[in-house]
Amino acid sequence: MIRINDIIDKITEYYPDADLDILDRAYIYSARVHDGQVRLSGEPYLSHPLEVAGILADMKLDVISVASGLLHDVVEDTHATPEEINAMFGEEITHIVSGVTKLSALPFSSSSQARQAESIRKMILAMADDIRVILIKLADRLHNMRTLEFHSEKKRRKIARETIDIYAPIAARLGIYWIKKELEDTSFRYLQPEEYSKIESVKSFIQKKMDEHNLKCEVLGRYKNFYSIYKKMVSQNLEFEEVYDIIAFRIILDTIPQCYEVLGSIHSLWKPVAKKFKDYIGVPKANMYQSLHTTVIGPFGERIEIQIRTREMDKVAKSGIAAHWSYKEGCRLNEKMTKTFSWIQDLVEHQEDFRDPDEFLENVRIDLFPDEVYVYTPRGEIKSLTRGATPVDFAFLIHTEVGNQCAGAKVNGRIVPLQYELKTGDTVEIFTSKKGHPSKDWLNFVKTVKARSRIRQWIKIQEKERSISLGREMCEKAFRKYRLNFNALLKSEEIDKVVELFGFKHIDDLIANVGYGKITPLQIVRKITPKPEQEKEHESLFNKIVGRVRKKKPREGVVVKGVDDILIKFGKCCQPVPGDPITGYITRGYGVTVHRTNCVNALKMSPERQIDVEWNIDIADTYPVKIIIRSYDRVGLLADITSNISKNGSNILSAHTETRESKIVDIYFTLAVKNTEHLKKVLSDIRKIKHIQEVKRINA
Ligand code: MN
Repeated sequence: MIRINDIIDKITEYYPDADLDILDRAYIYSARVHDGQVRLSGEPYLSHPLEVAGILADMKLDVISVASGLLHDVVEDTHATPEEINAMFGEEITHIVSGVTKLSALPFSSSSQARQAESIRKMILAMADDIRVILIKLADRLHNMRTLEFHSEKKRRKIARETIDIYAPIAARLGIYWIKKELEDTSFRYLQPEEYSKIESVKSFIQKKMDEHNLKCEVLGRYKNFYSIYKKMVSQNLEFEEVYDIIAFRIILDTIPQCYEVLGSIHSLWKPVAKKFKDYIGVPKANMYQSLHTTVIGPFGERIEIQIRTREMDKVAKSGIAAHWSYKEGCRLNEKMTKTFSWIQDLVEHQEDFRDPDEFLENVRIDLFPDEVYVYTPRGEIKSLTRGATPVDFAFLIHTEVGNQCAGAKVNGRIVPLQYELKTGDTVEIFTSKKGHPSKDWLNFVKTVKARSRIRQWIKIQEKERSISLGREMCEKAFRKYRLNFNALLKSEEIDKVVELFGFKHIDDLIANVGYGKITPLQIVRKITPKPEQEKEHESLFNKIVGRVRKKKPREGVVVKGVDDILIKFGKCCQPVPGDPITGYITRGYGVTVHRTNCVNALKMSPERQIDVEWNIDIADTYPVKIIIRSYDRVGLLADITSNISKNGSNILSAHTETRESKIVDIYFTLAVKNTEHLKKVLSDIRKIKHIQEVKRINA
């Protein structure tokens, strides 16, 4: 077991002036609070923080890191509190110890671990705002792996699995390859004991052969990532034995000629697999990767992949791991993140060069994912959101419907306002209500693009729905005014043409635009009301609509151009007679009223309502027309006039007389005439009667 003095010796080697007082106090405090606790190995618990501190000292970390390593478990496993740590060791150590404690408390569900591995790793990195928290966590895990044998079989597998999925990749990401390698090797030993012993025996066999040839080299045995093997097995429907290249070795030498020499001796030992040999030393890959690759049938009859390269080439290959990591996990390669990581790798590799410990300290505070937060679903899934995201963002991330019906939220078991800002590590639960719906206010605080666009979309749909029902109401009303039936139009096939005339794809868009006030119902009426220049197809549509309104089909003396079936009324004001220039006006609920073109009332009507009409010459009918006759009063005058009118074949519909001063009398007649010709003849014959002063047609 390592002793505190060993640790102090290590530190003074690279920090001769290190303040060792804090280390002494941390050691004494840790020993006191852990007193009586025993590890599964039977050793006193204190051995664990001491070993962790020793690993940190091996990494040549600063005194604060090593002291924090000694204290890393006191808050979690003893009665010690952060307040006490703060009072005794100051803010910095408290911050680091709390960070490590927080990471240990993170719940990871083992069922979704492999699938969620990337999210879990990011969450860990995001929660550690000081790089030393991660380094201590890695040292902690390393020592726990070294003492894994004391756990139960089940626990061993669980911890090894987690180490492979989560911690080894983090170590690789930070560029601490020796930790990555040891974590993987130990995990592998517990997860695949048979494969592990095979690798060990092949490895020592290779090593022995290299020694026989006096080739000074390093032999690394490795397995390929289980999860990717598992995925490969499932996707290709293979048995485990059929997945080739599971066992792989790397032989690292000093010079290139040695590499080819080793290749030769490997091929003479074991039978190479055809087409599997690749010379990336002679022809490097685009990313400068250099290595010899070959696959041979090994001593167990299995395929063994062997990479042979120089130490220098190995370094180049490893520096590519960071990029490889993000690529493999399918996440986009964030340039900023890549820079941050390469900077951390630099820091870890070269921190012994920091002459001034303060310079190192300035660089350890990090925010690896400044743009993201990682939170849990109630089922323990990790979701990543934009920094500043709220429960509403979370709800929309889960599902659009959850977002649309989001009525409230709980974070870590407590009800929070919807605009609560989520923090990494929060567990978020959303309450939905069938009656719930997005609010415009949400746009003021949501942070994710998804939530924002979904809320906008919802509002848009709602507005459209409102506009459609309003537009429909407006159209129905307007159509009724013109004795037209809007719903009949909707059911007719011709509706598509109307929609197209307005340049829309769907009738709903047209109606919605009426609701928005962009199109008036009258414009639609006019589109289905044919004009002379319009085509016949619109006429038939008009007929159809009108036909549903009016069942009876009276023949009229006036036709709306091209339409033979519409209720026609004549203006009482101007009493048009065939032969008069006329025009039609669509009237509220009464079809078309026909006026003479010079009628003062007609001139007042909106031109929008005007419709072209013409006399139907096929119809023999009579029309009322009012005339005035001014005459000197005399006996027998009325009899003369009436017989004159009758002689011309016109009926008198009404008559009345008004006597004026000086024996002048005004006689008003309403006559039924066939047309303007007929009227002209009647009027001119009356003028011939004795004492008649004036005869003319008047407006009613
Ligand atoms: Mn620990």
